[in-house]
Amino acid sequence: MLTSETKDVRGEFSKIAISYRRRNVIVSIVALIFVLILWLIMARFPDKSSLFVIAWAVFASVLIISTRLTRKLICPACKRSTEGEIIRFCPECGDTHLQQKGDDKFFLIAPRCSSCSKELIKMRGRRRYKIRFCTCCGAWLDERGV
Ligand SMILES: [Zn+2]
Ligand SMILES: [Zn+2]
Repeated sequence: MLTSETKDVRGEFSKIAISYRRRNVIVSIVALIFVLILWLIMARFPDKSSLFVIAWAVFASVLIISTRLTRKLICPACKRSTEGEIIRFCPECGDTHLQQKGDDKFFLIAPRCSSCSKELIKMRGRRRYKIRFCTCCGAWLDERGV
């Protein structure tokens, strides 16, 4: 929710968002190439399963390393990570009407925003929601969301 008190830090955040998006594109391309290589190995050397395992291990480590090296989505206003636990503000709409896990009658597997009814869920380490607002201080980070 945008109010007059919402800090607009989109300008400062845009560099972080750009490098984050770029990295996601690179990872998808690398993943595609690796899948092709794996497929070629399987097709050409069907009995050499060790090759397959090695290629798979290389792929997994590249993914892990690239995740480690990625710039964290740090909020320019409060300098905290916006990707961690949902603290106070909804990252999708910036509202504070969040229902946390274990709150009242709802059985929630993830925090849920009652303003935009988004479930702020992570599956296998991937966010299923966009970050437009900082969950810690509510600053406006990005128009489209990252
Ligand atoms: Zn919301
Ligand atoms: Zn913040």
